Amino acid sequence: MNSGERQPMNFPPRIEQAKQLANRVAALIQMGMKGEDVIVPKEIKEERMDICKKCEYLYESKSSDNFDRCIACGCLLKVKTQISVEKCPKDKWGQYKTLPKK
Ligand code: SF4
Repeated sequence: MNSGERQPMNFPPRIEQAKQLANRVAALIQMGMKGEDVIVPKEIKEERMDICKKCEYLYESKSSDNFDRCIACGCLLKVKTQISVEKCPKDKWGQYKTLPKK
């Protein structure tokens, strides 16, 4: 399905996006304090992005900088798919548990 066939959808309100971002930053700080990796392996990022590229909630950027976003949560996908504590808001992919650094 290409973007031209999709029903128009709106991003969540900015206040909701800001709350989600604050929660993620707090989770990342906690992980950092525990010495856990916050970035997933490359293959996990690619798996997640492959799912997003086929999703009806994908907002495809018109720019060549790959600013594709998720309409369901408003996130920038090239960032969201790299962060271990991130998960799909529609349960299409989940969090990735990393082990503490040695
Ligand atoms: S994060 Fe989930 S809902 Fe959003 S574009 Fe990716 S697969 Fe779709």
